[in-house]
Amino acid sequence: MSSPHDALVPRAALGSVPVYRPGRPPAPRDGLATYKLSSNENPYPPLPGVVEAVRRTLPGLNRYPDMGVTGLYERLAERHGVRTDELASGAGSVAVLYHLLQAFCEPGDEVVHAWRSFEAYPIAINLTGARSVPVPLTETAEHDLEAMLAAVTDRTRVLVVCTPNNPTGPAVDAATLRDFVGRVPEHVLVVVDEAYLEFRDPAPTETSVELRRDHPRVVGLRTFSKAWGLAGLRIGYAVAAEPVASAIRACALPFGVSDLAQAAAVASLDHEADLAERVAALVAERTRVRDALLEAGWAVPDSQANFVWLPAGEATLDVAAACADAGVMVRPFAGEGVRVTVGEPAGNDVLLGVASSMARV
Ligand SMILES: *Cc1c(COP(=O)(O)O)cnc(C)c1O
Repeated sequence: MSSPHDALVPRAALGSVPVYRPGRPPAPRDGLATYKLSSNENPYPPLPGVVEAVRRTLPGLNRYPDMGVTGLYERLAERHGVRTDELASGAGSVAVLYHLLQAFCEPGDEVVHAWRSFEAYPIAINLTGARSVPVPLTETAEHDLEAMLAAVTDRTRVLVVCTPNNPTGPAVDAATLRDFVGRVPEHVLVVVDEAYLEFRDPAPTETSVELRRDHPRVVGLRTFSKAWGLAGLRIGYAVAAEPVASAIRACALPFGVSDLAQAAAVASLDHEADLAERVAALVAERTRVRDALLEAGWAVPDSQANFVWLPAGEATLDVAAACADAGVMVRPFAGEGVRVTVGEPAGNDVLLGVASSMARV
């Protein structure tokens, strides 16, 4: 028997989709400075010239944005030494990943990724009807590349490498990644999520962009949300072989990237020197925070991103609650650990005060 409620039932795949939990903002507290260290945001305001560039686009808000993303693609093509048809943008690199999975995965296909890694992966994968195949991290919170390779089957369409890994921090070094990609079976696209690339120290000797020249199956994902500080405008992109980039573009929401975002991204690229200065300051702060946590007895993995991971295990929610009491919002993963963004030094100091006084695991 059918009923009018049948129309209200979405695809079965949605039943297996985990909920995305955004990092919480702090509750305002009288007389207590508060810090949001829960979403890996950049504590700096937009780069010089960005606000002005956005302001210049405002009188055109009655028009749709440039769907071809022409100005930005030209800049990025030049920057990465690729053609404009090897680029595909979206409202954040998470959107680009959604489009890629939509373009390549049928129900029943498999997507291999590390776990714990970025929580958007299982959501994006399950939404397509494909199956998420999570491969546990090593004891040092790194990708277990051998186990990921062993998890590849005939049904695997995509394998995701998150480097540096959110939320634990370690990166895959360039030579290891090149060797790995050479061993991944040819029917698998290798997505290299480089959301935190700019924070790596030292910078890797090559990135997904160079790797793809020898391995066309490699797709690099980049975002303006983290180091570039444009999280609020939603813009990211893929660098990929033309057939892959064009498949991603075909799945993208029309006009999904606003003119504000395009202008802000171009203006940011004009100020890369300022970016380098800010990134260097955040990396120095990351080292200071991690060293102090190690000193206090926390086994913090080698973070190459703008956050640190406290493997608090069973104490995770207690650590998060103590941080919140002190005015610092962090991102807990119950039973596993706490991810804390490296923010302004005063906020980092509050974290260090709390973490040093907590029982460590
Ligand atoms: C933040 C993040 C992204 C990008 O997010 P957008 O804001 O959608 O560009 C991608 N991958 C990882 C692992 C991230 O942490």
